[in-house]
Amino acid sequence: MSIELKSTKEIERMRAAGLFVYEVHQVLAEMVQPGVTTRDLDRKAHELCRARGAIPAFLNYPSASSGVCPFPGVICASANEVIVHGIPDDRPLEEGDILSIDFGCCIDEFFGDAAVTHAVGTIDAAAQELLTVTEASLEDAIRQCYAGNRIGDISHAVQSRVERHGFGVVREFVGHGIGRRMHEPPHVPNFGRSGQGRLLKPGMVLAIEPMVTAGGFETKVVEDGWTAVTRDGSLAAHFEHTVAITDGEPYVLSRP
Ligand code: MG
Repeated sequence: MSIELKSTKEIERMRAAGLFVYEVHQVLAEMVQPGVTTRDLDRKAHELCRARGAIPAFLNYPSASSGVCPFPGVICASANEVIVHGIPDDRPLEEGDILSIDFGCCIDEFFGDAAVTHAVGTIDAAAQELLTVTEASLEDAIRQCYAGNRIGDISHAVQSRVERHGFGVVREFVGHGIGRRMHEPPHVPNFGRSGQGRLLKPGMVLAIEPMVTAGGFETKVVEDGWTAVTRDGSLAAHFEHTVAITDGEPYVLSRP
């Protein structure tokens, strides 16, 4: 499938969704602490969407697997060994947990998407290193977002940072193009070779989202049909930004 390039005007329209995604993350970040449930976070995100007239992107997202209900949350809330697509629930967060919050929405016909992994209270040094390295790998990836580079440059930047620290890069779930649809071509894997893959061109907008494990990179999806966990039970972290390729610097739409 062909990659839809966005005009400068369209990218500015996408900026509205990106900045709102950032704002929601800021509000939720303030709430994350022991005792709070991911249902509380989900309700808050929904309330903010209603107030802004933003359409939550994940709520009722159809499953690719038959017999699995559409996604029931406004956010994906993925704690500890959950990598992505965790369903908000009533379990209170506990001191020492890590929690990935992924939120996307549509404003003015365009989508924005970002994820952050939070420490709940004080976490141990190993968990902190996982968060630090995963976030750094996203920044490495963003630094590759220049016209003339290739998707593989992004992939390689993530993988090399992550593996240098002995962590695992998830294979089954990848980043994606984004625009008038939440998920557009191309795939943006977090593993690969520099110089390979699609050429980055001005007007491409990518949701780049390293998913990193403290152990092996193998995954499985639990009985609910959504929640993706590490097969070995190791911790997982996930950070994401929506990034536009321009004639100049990378333009991160999902932060000020
Ligand atoms: Mg995404």
